[in-house]
Amino acid sequence: MMLGLLLARAGVRVTVLEKHADFLRDFRGDTVHPSTIRLIDELGLGQEFRRLPQSRLKNVVFPVPGGPPVTMGDFNALPPPYNYVAMMPQWDFLSFLAGAAAQEPGFTLLMSHTATSLVRNGGRVRGVRFRTPDGMQDELLADLVVATDGRHSALRTAAGLAPKEFPVPFDTWWFRLPRYPSETGEVAGLVPAFGPGEALLALFRNDYYQMGYLAAKGTDARIRAEGVEGFRRRVAALRPDLADRVDAIESLEDLHWLDVRLNRLHTWHINGLLCIGDAAHAMSPAGGVGINLAIQDAAAAAEYLAPALLRGRVTTADLEKVERRRRLPTVIVQSVQRIMQRAVFVPIMTGKRTKFPAAALFLARHVPAIRTIIPRFIAFGPRPEHAPAFARRAPQHS
Ligand SMILES: Cc1cc2nc3c(=O)[nH]c(=O)nc-3n(C[C@H](O)[C@H](O)[C@H](O)COP(=O)(O)OP(=O)(O)OC[C@H]3O[C@@H](n4cnc5c(N)ncnc54)[C@H](O)[C@@H]3O)c2cc1C
Repeated sequence: MMLGLLLARAGVRVTVLEKHADFLRDFRGDTVHPSTIRLIDELGLGQEFRRLPQSRLKNVVFPVPGGPPVTMGDFNALPPPYNYVAMMPQWDFLSFLAGAAAQEPGFTLLMSHTATSLVRNGGRVRGVRFRTPDGMQDELLADLVVATDGRHSALRTAAGLAPKEFPVPFDTWWFRLPRYPSETGEVAGLVPAFGPGEALLALFRNDYYQMGYLAAKGTDARIRAEGVEGFRRRVAALRPDLADRVDAIESLEDLHWLDVRLNRLHTWHINGLLCIGDAAHAMSPAGGVGINLAIQDAAAAAEYLAPALLRGRVTTADLEKVERRRRLPTVIVQSVQRIMQRAVFVPIMTGKRTKFPAAALFLARHVPAIRTIIPRFIAFGPRPEHAPAFARRAPQHS
């Protein structure tokens, strides 16, 4: 959606195919980081963005059994206005981007349209085949196809590209619990609760918590075999303060399992097709940065490809420039995620530890620089992108 918006602002005709009829889905994280908020400001959309329902995450906090939580990172240390992570449901954010893109004459969004395969001719990708809402097959020819269809990208498979998989020790199960009016307000920090072989995270939404339960990969069948009562007990044990509302989990149907992946393509493109976002590099939820990395990919792709698209000729060398620009930040962020997995999640998921590593807590307590390095890394990451000059607009006041 972001790439569609940016290219349309450059004057490129662009069509986005989305297989779902709407953007409603709970499972892919809610975080809009300062790097993305800055980009939105550069696009002149900051005021409208800040009016969307959201809460502000000011700290990265970790629990200490029997003691007060330790602040690992304080976003307040960053210069305003980019000193918080905006927490908002992904469907609001996507609808907002779609609304902005719809104002550009060259932009078309086709909902309930599923890309199924590639149109190839003369050794080059020339377009996509897709299924329409009434089940008919059709095709769309294009100077360039960009696969932004996520972790299970059908277009990536159609292109014959296969990512290298890195081990991930956990899966997630998402569900909702009520959030009472007395509990709303600014979010001091997200504090995951750890237990033997499990963890629980509560994301703040207006009138409910989006809960993320983490347990070792391959335990879905065991969790379901315990029944809904068993799962409620797990939640209540991890978060006694929320035990009063676990009955809101009516059945195991309310529990959405997500197979977490961490992978990366060796080459992100073939002649006429480029993969970006999770289609090129599926991100683990660790650190909650995948949305923002996908948006950075979109900004870089627009910057490098808009001139070639306006000329009507995109070469493999153009696609290679995008990959070269985005590969290093992706490798760095995924490497940090893998270290976090090994240091924090593997010992917890195997039941060897039930708390955050003592060395990390010691550093957070006694090395003040840690509290500014971590938020800076989470907020902007390595090599944050800016909006291309052709996409920038003055702020819209209303
Ligand atoms: C459990 C979990 C929690 C996460 N939490 C966070 C978080 O808090 N913060 C964060 O920044 N990142 C988080 N991430 C990572 C983040 O979700 C991804 O990195 C990010 O969504 C990637 O964006 P994307 O646009 O590349 O792909 P996606 O967000 O997956 O979007 C792909 C889109 O393509 C559509 N689509 C798929 N196939 C087709 C098709 N064939 N035809 C047409 N449309 C199609 C899909 O419906 C979808 O709308 C989390 C990931 C997981 C697994």
